This record gives sequence, structure tokens and C-alpha cells, in this order.
Amino acid sequence: MRVKFWGVRGSIPAPGPDTEAVGGNTSCLQVIGEDGTELILDAGSGIRDLTAEDLGHATRLHILLTHLHLDHIQGLLFFAPLFDPEAEITVWGPPGRVPLRRRLARYLSDPLSPIEIGELPARVSFENVPVDGWRVGDLQIKAALVSHRGPTLGYRITEGDASLCYIPDHEPGLGLKLSSAPGNWISGHSLAHDATVLIHDAQYTDQEYPGRRGWGHSSISDMVAFAGRTRPGRLLMFHHDPTHDDRNLELLEDQAAEEAARLGADVRVQLAREGHALNV
Ligand SMILES: [Zn+2]
Ligand SMILES: [Zn+2]
Repeated sequence: MRVKFWGVRGSIPAPGPDTEAVGGNTSCLQVIGEDGTELILDAGSGIRDLTAEDLGHATRLHILLTHLHLDHIQGLLFFAPLFDPEAEITVWGPPGRVPLRRRLARYLSDPLSPIEIGELPARVSFENVPVDGWRVGDLQIKAALVSHRGPTLGYRITEGDASLCYIPDHEPGLGLKLSSAPGNWISGHSLAHDATVLIHDAQYTDQEYPGRRGWGHSSISDMVAFAGRTRPGRLLMFHHDPTHDDRNLELLEDQAAEEAARLGADVRVQLAREGHALNV
């Protein structure tokens, strides 16, 4: 499968010259299966740049939401295929007491939006993710709840021998020592274990984290410790804090790689950058 990053930022878009190299848009990834299956992971502000042309003019699309925090859904109203009557789009999301469509309608309705959710021209359906996983084309998808604020999913997408794990908002080290806790006690462990590529929350520096414990995000050290326990082949640092500019992020990338080497983790660590693509 091929993965392209359309938004790599967390919390709120951070445009401007200081964030230009890594990117200022919030979470959005495009995943294209070998058979042409199109998945979109999260609908942050980056989804606006993902045009019908980029999607190969596919009319059958699936949007997989990890959760409904604004930085993961704010781009929905600016996603062109939702205004195409020929498009058939399934939006998948975490379970909740209120149906997914009604939860999203809180945002896609007056007074927050000029357009009501029921007025979208595309044929859109809303589904809670199946507990046992499901298939879209040749892509096998598994979702599981992970440690964050409010019901939040991580995803694992498998195609043949390749697997992509996506956990953008995640605080696995909350109340747990990641280096010694049993694997099945660690949030996200079964999703990330031995993944070819892990895309993971890298929001806070180790210095920032103590003041933000319980906010639902990882420190750099906890991200690396999580990778040390789950052993992905590649780790892409994601959900960059809006206050971290390009220079800060490059320093964090070096620090994460050094920390991984110190732990003896055989993993290639890199920043996820807007506009970049990789084969998994
Ligand atoms: Zn987020
Ligand atoms: Zn969140």
C-alpha cells in the first residue's frame, strides 16, 4: 500500500514560514491499496488539499476517523467529494452513546457550519467500527480503543505481509511504566506490534510532558519506549505540537533516533512531513 501525508500537525493548524518544511495542516492521511482501494485516515485541515484527482477520481471512498476532536474532523466541510452527488462515502468512527452521524452533526450544523450534515450532496453513511475488524477491498482493517481523552481509536491496516499502524493521539505511558509493563497492559500494543510502519503521537518534548500529563499525548521518550515494546520497522513521528517549528522538530527527530539507539530498538525514526509519501 502507499501512504501520503496531507496533514501531520496536532491540535490546531499552524501555518507560516516557521512550519513550512514539516507542514501546518492537521491530521489527514491517504492510503491506497495495491488494488486501488482508497482510505482516508482522519479529516483534519489537510483533507482540503486532497482533491478528486489525487483520489484517482474514485467515487467509493472510506474515511476512518480516530476520534471526533476538532483537529481530526475540521476539514470535512472542505472535502470536495462530499459535494459530489456521484460519490459514495462511508465515514467510520469510534463507538459512543450517541450515533456517529449525530455526534458529527454537532459540528456540521448551525451555528458552527453553514451546511447541515443532511444537506451534503454525496451519499454518505456513518458506521461505528466493527469490533472484529473488517475488509475494504484487499485491505484488512482492525480498530481498537486507545488511551486518549474521550473514545479514541487506533488503526492497523494490513495488506499481505505489510502492515500500517496509525495512532495519532495516544498517551500509553499514563500511569504505566512502558519499559516493564506486560505487553497486554499497554494501550495500542496489539495494534502496533511488529507493524511495518507505525505512525504515532509525538506531541510533547520530555520537558513539556510533566505539565501536560493526562492531556492524552505522548512525550518523545514515551513514544520511543512504546516503539521499543512494539517493534515496528519504521516509526513516523506525527501530530506535531502547533508550537514546535521546523527547527524544534528536527531536533526532536534527532533526539528520538538517539533514544531509540540507546534502547537498542531496531527502528528507523523520522518526522512525518506534509506532502511526503511512502510505500509500506
Ligand atoms: Zn489530535
Ligand atoms: Zn485528540
